[in-house]
Amino acid sequence: MSSNPPIFLKENEQSNSKYVEMQPSQTTSVLLEDPLQNLCLASQEVLQKAQQSGRSRCLKCGGSRMFYCYTCYVPVENVPVEQLPLVQLPLKIDIIKHPNETDGKSTAIHAKLLAPEFVNIYTYPCIPEYEETDHEVALVFPGPKSVSIKDISSHLQQRIQNSRRDKHADPDKPPVKRKKTEGQDGRSLNDSKWKGTTLKKIVLIDSTWNQTNKIVSDERLQGLLQVELKSRKTCFWRHQKGKPETFLSTIEAIYYFLVDYHTDLLEEKYRGQYDNLLFFYSFMYQLIKKAKCSGDKQTRKLLH
Ligand SMILES: [Zn+2]
Repeated sequence: MSSNPPIFLKENEQSNSKYVEMQPSQTTSVLLEDPLQNLCLASQEVLQKAQQSGRSRCLKCGGSRMFYCYTCYVPVENVPVEQLPLVQLPLKIDIIKHPNETDGKSTAIHAKLLAPEFVNIYTYPCIPEYEETDHEVALVFPGPKSVSIKDISSHLQQRIQNSRRDKHADPDKPPVKRKKTEGQDGRSLNDSKWKGTTLKKIVLIDSTWNQTNKIVSDERLQGLLQVELKSRKTCFWRHQKGKPETFLSTIEAIYYFLVDYHTDLLEEKYRGQYDNLLFFYSFMYQLIKKAKCSGDKQTRKLLH
C-alpha cells in the first residue's frame, strides 16, 4: 500500500507510476485542503477584477457572462484576451460534447480559451472522421479495453504494422517497397527515441457519464485506441451525484493526461508547462470554496 498523498499534489509526480488506488483512510482533510495551490499559474489579477465588477458583455453575442462566453468560446469584455495565458500543448485535442450538456457548466471551454490553436470542440453527432488517422489518435475513456498512457506508443505502432500487413495481404494492391520496420521518416519503429511521436491527437467526451457511454459506442469512435488515466481524485465542485470522486472534470482530465504524457511517454521531467490550463479552474475552485465556507449563495449561483 502506498503512503503517498493524493496524486494531484505535484510533489508526488515522480512516484505516480507506482501509484496504486488510494485508500479512503489516507484521504486526510489536510491534504485535500488546497489541492491546486502548487500550480505554476499566470497572475489571476484579471479574474479577481472581473469577479469584483461582476458579469460583463460577450463581444461576439452580447450576452452577459462571467469571465467568458460559453457559447462563443471567447473571454468577456472585462477579461482582455491578451491578459490570459496562452498554453502550448504537445498534441491536438478534440472535445466532443453532448448537445444536452449545459454549456455554462462545462470546463471544456477552459481548454479552448487557454490553448485555442490546439483545441477544437464539436457538438455530437457532428464529429470528425478518425478512420484514416486512427494510428495517431487516442480516445481518453476508461473502458474495458483501455490501455495506460505509457503503452499508447506500442499500441499505435501495432496498428501501423497491422494496416501494412493488411495492405500486403490484399491481392489487388502491389506490396509497398519499404522495409517493414521503418516508420514514415525512416526511423525504426522499435527506436525508443521515437516514443510518443505517433500520437498526435487525443479525443475527450464532455458530458455526463450516461451520455458519454452512448457517444463512445458511436461507430466513428469505436475503432480508436482507448486510453485511461491513472486514478486521481477530482476537485470538481459540480461533483456528479453517485459518481466516484475519481470522475474528473474535462479540464482536469486534459491536464492530468498531459502531465502523464509528458512524464510517462515523453519521459521528460514535468516543470509546470500545462499548469495554466487550470487558470480558470483553480480560480473558480477557490471562489466556490470560499463561498461555501461563508455561505455566500450569490457567488455560488454566479459560477454554477
Ligand atoms: Zn457570446
